[in-house]
Parts: sequence; C-alpha cells; structure tokens
Amino acid sequence: MRQRKPDWLKVKLTGTEEMARVERMLRNLSLHTVCEEAKCPNRAECFGKKTATFMILGSTCTRNCAFCAVTKGKPSPVNPEEPFRVADAARRLDLRHVVITSVTRDDLPDGGAGHFAKVINELRECSGGIVIEVLIPDFCGDEKALLKVVQAGPDIINHNVETVPRLYQVIRPQANYQRSLQLLGKVKEMDSAIHTKSGLMLGLGESREEVGNVLQDLRDIDCDFLTIGQYLAPSDKHYPVQEFVHPAVFEEWGKTGLNMGFKYAASAPLVRSSYHAGLMYREITGQGYFPS
Ligand code: SF4
Repeated sequence: MRQRKPDWLKVKLTGTEEMARVERMLRNLSLHTVCEEAKCPNRAECFGKKTATFMILGSTCTRNCAFCAVTKGKPSPVNPEEPFRVADAARRLDLRHVVITSVTRDDLPDGGAGHFAKVINELRECSGGIVIEVLIPDFCGDEKALLKVVQAGPDIINHNVETVPRLYQVIRPQANYQRSLQLLGKVKEMDSAIHTKSGLMLGLGESREEVGNVLQDLRDIDCDFLTIGQYLAPSDKHYPVQEFVHPAVFEEWGKTGLNMGFKYAASAPLVRSSYHAGLMYREITGQGYFPS
C-alpha cells in the first residue's frame, strides 16, 4: 500500500515549455537522463538552469539495489556513439554544468571507466568552460579503472555512499561501504584538484548516530561536497520508506555538515545528487554557472 507523503514532499510538477523542448531533443539523440528516468521533481528547475544529468552505458544495471528504480538484468552493448551524442546535446542545450552518471556495469572489464573518460573528453572538446561532474559507480574498487576517469580531468567526482553501513546488506547488497570510501579517498590521492562529492538518503531506518558517523567518515577522506535527501520508494516493490524525516532535521544536518568542514552541504527532503550542482560548484570555486 502506497505510504501517504507529508505535505513537505508534495510538489506540483510544473511542466515548462523549456522542459518539453529539452526532452524532445534528448529523444531525438536517443539519450537517457536520470532526471527523466527517476521522474525527478526538480527537473523543470534544473533544465531551466542549464543543468542536466545524463545516464550513459545503457539503462540496465548489473546490480540490484532495493531503493533504485533502474531496470536490472543483462545490459546492452556499449554504444560507441554515446560520447559524441552527449557532447552534442550539451552543446545544443548550452549546458554549463553537466552531470554524467551510469548504471553499474560489472559485466565490463573496467566497469565502463574508459567510456566515462571518452564522454568527458568529448564534452571538453565541444563545450569550452563547461563544468563536468561525474557520478560514478564503484568500479568494484578497481584503481586502474578509477585512474582512467581521474586522468580525463572532470571537475567533480561524485560517488554516493547512499546509506549507513549497517543497512548495506538490505539496501545495496552488491556494494561495500569501505570500498566506496576508499574510492572517493583515492581520487584526492590521484588528483587533489578534483572536488569530491557524496550523498546519502534518510528515511531507510538509520539512526542519527549512524548518519553522524558517515559524515565523519566522509570528512576523514576529505570529501568536499555533501548531499542529503529523503528516500522515496519508487514503487511498492521497493524497500519501504521507514520514516519521512522532517525538514528541520535536514536543516540541522546541513549545518552540522558545514561545521564538520564540508565546503558545501545541500540537505533537504527533495535534494538529489545533482540538485543545484552548479550552485555548489560556483559558490565554492567562483567558477561555473548558476542563474539566480
Ligand atoms: S548500482 Fe546504481 S543503478 Fe544499479 S541498482 Fe544500484 S543504485 Fe540502481
């Protein structure tokens, strides 16, 4: 049975003409965005602010996280045209901050890292001055794979820890909390000029102490940016929401995150990994683009 959402989670999705134009263009280029796949409530705003999150490497994942709406199963072959299409879309949409993410491809020798690098290089070719953020899977902890992405030189490398270690077994059984921390920590060792970012969801049954420990673990590996949002079950078949956390609690975590040394902490019920991604980067580096 669908859980009743509190008022603060009820958003009227204002479909704008701009949003429709963007979605038509993405269809023509056979490109996926997480924004659409996840029916993100923020997409009208983000598209309007020239930010979008492209999903590369297909739409079928080799893993089976209990909170995620992405299709699970045998992925399709990698499309060699994709880097050019993503760069083309970014140029046509005049995007200033682009986020590239993917399903997890444990079926590929490098987990798709080489493909991420190609997309980054094509974007750099096509759109000068664009801020490139990649939201990567854990590449099974393969450092050579990670190095391919780091050497392509994105501005931000994001990898979500998603929840607290105690819940990994039920929420993301094929992932490993320590491995995710190590991956993010390695980025800074490989290239300290790259900003790192991570995020988690609340409402899966975690305790406050556990959340505080995760934030400390992320600060211990010098993670720069933090996002915290409310988990919403994509369907009745997914892990049920354990709690609709009050906005005041999110606000507290945002302040706590800044006090712990995160350069930016976006924490609110509707915050998602790429929400206000451009603002975060602009506030911290003075570069990038984010219209008021
Ligand atoms: S690895 Fe990512 S895309 Fe795959 S099921 Fe988990 S959250 Fe979804």
